Amino acid sequence: MSNFDLTIHESDHKKPKPQTDQIAFGRTFTDHMFMMDYDTGKGWHDPRIVPYEPVTLDPASMIFHYGQTVFEGLKAYRTADDRILLFRPEKNLQRLNQSSDRLSIPPIDEEEVMGYLKELVKLEREWVPETDGTSLYIRPFIIATEPSLAVAPSKTYIFMIILSPVGSYFPGGIHPVQINVEDQFTRAVKGGTGMAKTAGNYSSGYQAQAKASETGNADVLWLDGIEKRYIEEVGSMNIFFKIDGEVVTPALNGSILKGITRTSILEVLNDWGVPVVERKIAIDELYEAYQAGKVEEAFGTGTAAVISPVGELNWQGKQMVINNREIGPLSQELYDTITGIQRGNREDAYGWTIEL
Ligand SMILES: *Cc1c(COP(=O)(O)O)cnc(C)c1O
Repeated sequence: MSNFDLTIHESDHKKPKPQTDQIAFGRTFTDHMFMMDYDTGKGWHDPRIVPYEPVTLDPASMIFHYGQTVFEGLKAYRTADDRILLFRPEKNLQRLNQSSDRLSIPPIDEEEVMGYLKELVKLEREWVPETDGTSLYIRPFIIATEPSLAVAPSKTYIFMIILSPVGSYFPGGIHPVQINVEDQFTRAVKGGTGMAKTAGNYSSGYQAQAKASETGNADVLWLDGIEKRYIEEVGSMNIFFKIDGEVVTPALNGSILKGITRTSILEVLNDWGVPVVERKIAIDELYEAYQAGKVEEAFGTGTAAVISPVGELNWQGKQMVINNREIGPLSQELYDTITGIQRGNREDAYGWTIEL
């Protein structure tokens, strides 16, 4: 691989590495970051790895006013024999460009950026923790930087990648969580930005999140914005149910984020011959199935937790306790399979991992 025009300026103050079993998500960053700039006419240019440090922006930078920004989230894992693996990273760069398209941000060259991302993680490989369940979280993002209050796409952008060692999402093993079904606030509607990883989708969910946690729930299950009836996704995870022997996940409809974990799980289930469908699923249909004793398992899927079993759903004062608040056998097997591939202790028959 050629190194393109990448310049590397190594930091001379290396920070101490944290105890990864003790760190909170996303608060510790490594010694270096990647940056490149975009100017209309010039395109993306000046790719560089530099010491991690604050960036200086004009207060009129468009990102501060109209939220023109997109991000991604993926992880690097250390294997027992000390190799560093990435899980389907090309899917993250593809999705970054899909999000950018929605936000009128110019696309990046996926192959070139893959090269830069790998160089950055290689330089920071000492930061990839080794304990089971830990990883180095990779956050690529783009912000609009043109100093202008005009409501129009920016003419300049910065693309950055920062890295953060993260501890296990479930210290002490995976455990089912309690979820509130939100019937007032909306996350996204068809035609909006729900299918893009963009800032506003998340900050607009904080009120529902706060409401859920006031009543002891760990997260929010979002319903469609129009009828408040069809299940969409949970927090920043996609959602799956096992109902009467069949696995069901909401079909992508423009407002649901297309998770890479979701895609991978659909592929694994098909491979295993487990019946699985992507379709519309209404909350009242789920409740009926629950009352009939047919809801066997429920779980969220995403890069952070991989599989997050749902032990209880609360919807308009009705409670659904799923699988006795225990991890179901399918949830466990999917978790073991995907995390096994990610950490290199299960055969990667799908060719999903890339070694650095
Ligand atoms: C990132 C994200 C997901 C999960 O996507 P993965 O690629 O599996 O990590 C699901 N829903 C939302 C809203 C997200 O932001």
